[in-house]
Order: sequence, then structure tokens, then C-alpha cells
Amino acid sequence: MLSMDGVHKWFGGFHALDDCSLEVSQGEKIVICGPSGSGKSTLIRCINAIERHDGGRITFSGVSLDDGREAVQARKGIGMVFQQFNLFPHLTVLDNVMLAPMLVKRQAPTPSRQQALALLERVRIVEQANKYPGQLSGGQQQRVAIARALALQPQLMLFDEPTSALDPEMVGEVLEAMQELAREGMTMIVVTHEMGFARQVADRVIFMEAGRIVEVQPPDRFFDNPQSERTRAFLGKIL
Ligand code: ADP
Ligand code: MG
Repeated sequence: MLSMDGVHKWFGGFHALDDCSLEVSQGEKIVICGPSGSGKSTLIRCINAIERHDGGRITFSGVSLDDGREAVQARKGIGMVFQQFNLFPHLTVLDNVMLAPMLVKRQAPTPSRQQALALLERVRIVEQANKYPGQLSGGQQQRVAIARALALQPQLMLFDEPTSALDPEMVGEVLEAMQELAREGMTMIVVTHEMGFARQVADRVIFMEAGRIVEVQPPDRFFDNPQSERTRAFLGKIL
């Protein structure tokens, strides 16, 4: 479904992604971890072209994401959830979820509303549909953000530290919503340091350091028998 081949990203003279390659199959769940500044966000931002990569190739469902109008179209099949929710504060929860299908797909209001309510039901927050984001807890806002990303019916979902900004008691409800999505067969790439989630949900865990993909392993091997000394040192610090 997704292929990255020798991807590079520079910020001025700083080499943020150094020859990153990765193949993701349909339905696969990938967890990315690694120290702060290692390029995790940059990697997934290049996948949905919030950042432009400077070298290498990225293809999604057979379409090149390197440039061109095809790439703009293909990217609509990729949903993203950020650490800081990024909901529109002046719109209700329902309108936040309805907006993208209406703007991007020119979908009519009535079906957009029905679809948004169904998505809010799916992340168990439909009773808050008419509130504003500021009236919700962080965990609730993040579940709305997940519903909003799902509204464009993506084939691939990217999560960038979706629970890092949450109070500890709210982490579980967001991970649960993500786990449910995983069970339904969604293809997911998740940057997180929630190692319990990685063990339970990931098909493969990736460790990044200094812009490079250092290790890619199934979770059992990743946690119990990491091959790289760097991975071992990192796990020693966070576990
Ligand atoms: P991570 O998500 O692993 O913490 P990032 O991908 O956010 O790391 O950042 C990797 C490196 O690239 C960091 O050193 C960061 O400072 C740098 N970086 C990220 N975005 C920019 C930018 N827009 N301009 C300059 N440097 C950036
Ligand atoms: Mg980051």
C-alpha cells in the first residue's frame, strides 16, 4: 500500500531523514519510536506531504506522492491525527467532523451529518456532538480528531504521538479507539512511546535515531531481543 524508497529530507544543512525505506502492506500496523528529534514526525509528515521530501520515492496505492496533481488526489486517502488535536475551536464537534467531506468531496450536508454522527458513535462521543472543542477533555478532543480524520474514508491512518499531550487518565480511551480501528483492519502508522500498545497492536515496530531507520522488528523480537545496541539503550531508558 505504501512504499518509501531511499527518502531524504533536509532542513537547510540539517539532514532530518537519511535514506529511509519502508514498505507497508494493506491492513498492517506499524509503530515508530525513537528519541526526540530522531525524525519520526518528519517521516510521517513526508508520507502525507505536510513536508516535501528532498530525495527518494514515496508511492501510495501505486500512485507517486513525489509531486504532481495525482499526488494531491492520492493524499486524500491518508488521514492524520496530531499530538495537539488541531480541532477548529469555533466549530462544534459535529461541524468539525462534517467539514472535510463537504469541502474536499463536495458532499451534501445531510449525508455528511449522518456520516459524522456515525463516526462520533464509533469513537463513543456522539453525545458531545453539539459542544465546542474547548468544552471537552483532551481525551474526548482526540477521539473527535480521530473521527474527523476518518470522515474522508482514508485507507491509511497516520498518528503522531496521539496521547503525548493527554493527562494520564485519558490515554486509555484514545488507545482503545485506536485499537478498535486496528481490529477493523485499518492500515496504521503510529508514532508513540506507548509500548503496551506497540506490543498488542503492532505488526512491526520501527526504531529511529538521527534521521535513520535503525531497526524494524515484530514486537516480540523488538522488545525481547533487539538487534541494535541503540534500540537496547533506548528501551532501557523508557521501559
Ligand atoms: P521527532 O518527531 O522524532 O521528535 P522531528 O521529525 O520533529 O523529530 O524532527 C527531527 C529533526 O528535524 C529535529 O532536530 C528538528 O529540530 C528538525 N526539524 C523538524 N522540523 C523542522 C523545520 N520545519 N525546520 C527546521 N528543522 C526542523
Ligand atoms: Mg515528533
